[in-house]
Amino acid sequence: MNATANPLLQPWATPYALPPFSALRPEHFAPALREAMQQHRVELDTIAAQAEAPGFENTVARFDASGRLLARLEGVFHNLCASETSPELQQVQREMAEPMAAHSSAVYMHAGLFARIDALHRQRAGLGLTPEQLRLLEQVHRDFVRAGARLVPAAQQRYAALMERLATLTTQFGQNVLADESAYRLALEGEADLAGLPEFVRAAAHQAAIERGLDGHVITLSRSQLVPFLTFSERRDLREQAWRAWTSRGEHAGASDNRAIVREILQLRAEQAAAHGNASFADYALDNSMAREQGAVQRLLDNVWQRALPALERERGQLLALMHEAGVTHDIEPWDWRFWAEKVRQRTYALDDAEIKPYFPLDRMVAAAFDCAERLFGVRFSERADLPVYHADVKAYEMRDRDGNVAGIFLHDNYARPSKRSGAWMSSFRLQTRNGGDVIPIIVNNNNFAKGAPGEPTLLSFDDVRTLFHEFGHGLHGLLSNVGYERLSGTNVLRDFVELPSQLFEHWTTEPAVLRRHARHVRTGEPIPDALVERLAAARRFGQGFETVRYTASALTDMAVHALPQGQVPDDVVAFEAQVLRERGLPPGVGLNHRFTNFQHLFAGSGYAAGYYVYLWAEVLDADAFDAFVEAGDPFDAAVATRLKQHIYAAGDSVEPGATYAAFRGRTARLEPMLKKRGLLEPA
Ligand SMILES: [Zn+2]
Repeated sequence: MNATANPLLQPWATPYALPPFSALRPEHFAPALREAMQQHRVELDTIAAQAEAPGFENTVARFDASGRLLARLEGVFHNLCASETSPELQQVQREMAEPMAAHSSAVYMHAGLFARIDALHRQRAGLGLTPEQLRLLEQVHRDFVRAGARLVPAAQQRYAALMERLATLTTQFGQNVLADESAYRLALEGEADLAGLPEFVRAAAHQAAIERGLDGHVITLSRSQLVPFLTFSERRDLREQAWRAWTSRGEHAGASDNRAIVREILQLRAEQAAAHGNASFADYALDNSMAREQGAVQRLLDNVWQRALPALERERGQLLALMHEAGVTHDIEPWDWRFWAEKVRQRTYALDDAEIKPYFPLDRMVAAAFDCAERLFGVRFSERADLPVYHADVKAYEMRDRDGNVAGIFLHDNYARPSKRSGAWMSSFRLQTRNGGDVIPIIVNNNNFAKGAPGEPTLLSFDDVRTLFHEFGHGLHGLLSNVGYERLSGTNVLRDFVELPSQLFEHWTTEPAVLRRHARHVRTGEPIPDALVERLAAARRFGQGFETVRYTASALTDMAVHALPQGQVPDDVVAFEAQVLRERGLPPGVGLNHRFTNFQHLFAGSGYAAGYYVYLWAEVLDADAFDAFVEAGDPFDAAVATRLKQHIYAAGDSVEPGATYAAFRGRTARLEPMLKKRGLLEPA
């Protein structure tokens, strides 16, 4: 294809230089990405070939500003692959995984470029750099070393081949999970199959049927459909079917089987770690984290695991008592837990989702998230219906700062659809930077909420509300970024720090002042009654044993499998997973958040491999951080919010995370607020 005919390679004459979505076709991506990689290589060769001695500006700052075209194209490409994919786009994804990984290796193994960066790194103390410049130099240098810049040429060649193969495998892994999700539907025939389902679950199941060109009701593997089904369906046989389909994604013989893929990924990662002199991939991954080493992670996980098991058994006792009363004698299986827990919740707290959801219409909750951001950080969001978006369901907003200047663009993509992967996530089309001119960020949040029927509002569960705020917290981390360099921008922080801004933002969903203002009944407009808010808070603590055990079990399997040295990856990863859980004593009837064959955090990319623990690590920080507002006596205390914005939401990776946290809090984080929040401090 001729470059002039490719809209990706022409200047984007759109507002805020948003991608020209409506002009883009799958066949535009491969040639544009190849052209952008070529341009990036020329930029790097030019930096390396300078006659002038290496300096911060001519080498480190220029490196940070290089590859902008590629970064923008990758932004569009990865976001569309995740949120609005198609067989054609998936084909491009498979085709480009290796060349893009090869390009990344070529960048970080560029000998001439690394020689300059390495020379500067050795002299860094005497260069007269600002603290942020010094941080940039150190992080860029670390990126090069961790990507193999110091390996001898033959080892570099093997390393690059490893990375290319890993890119292919992780791409295939994610596509296989999506294939199993899209292929599955549980058709509910007649009233008998719908037994126990409240109106909102029926409406979502009907809507899902319509979207698939069917009549009646279907349950898909979208989490916002599946979890309510497991919670409410009186049909134990159907719950079991749905649960088995959900947990066996990626574990069926055939084209979408992830078992051999997981094994090969683990083998390659062990080899990758060995190339750096690390005993295991966990060691390699943790070397670039706040935790620093496996022992620190294990101590946290062990501590929480030991406290969560008795909490879970207390909850089990309540479930069994109610089952006994109802004359039910079977054991609790994983597809039963939520169902009976919901019955206990309704009985003990007189609470059910059908009563709660009318107070949480999606539109009002989005407004609530914006309002909290305004009260804390002084930014205002306003919709711009005319901005280009990639799907009719996506809403675009301008974010203005206190002076009224547009400081960021926010895209909100809230609904589940077959072309979108499951889960919820934040991503970017463009990062904030001042290097090479002021650039404002373009940030996107994806959720997978079940859409209300046509003409009906979309109602959220309280968990959905937390997810909405969680992702918006990540969004603010990208949008409020105020740093000099792209490498240090927004969520480009150490991965056990990255969940702090998101999980912290969840705290405002339980603030009575926020709920009274925004959680209003969808029909009457009445604010949610205080008594219901209190019951909601009490009921949330009730489920913490179940949630904490399942989460921690997944974090333990992740650490165990990534702690295996080279040559010790088992042939049967599913059996290994079961063995770890047996040794750890996962109680029966609970199940996991994620099985290896569909654990996208670990295997659809490498960002969270040996890193599922980061949510808990960051929770220590977020619970301790929110206590600063509690101590000030106001969830919007202006002084605390100002420090929070400066040191956490705006700082990116411009300051070492431990130091920036201490600057916000005046001390290091304490463990107790997290344990207290999860109800794990109470005596058995
Ligand atoms: Zn998150």
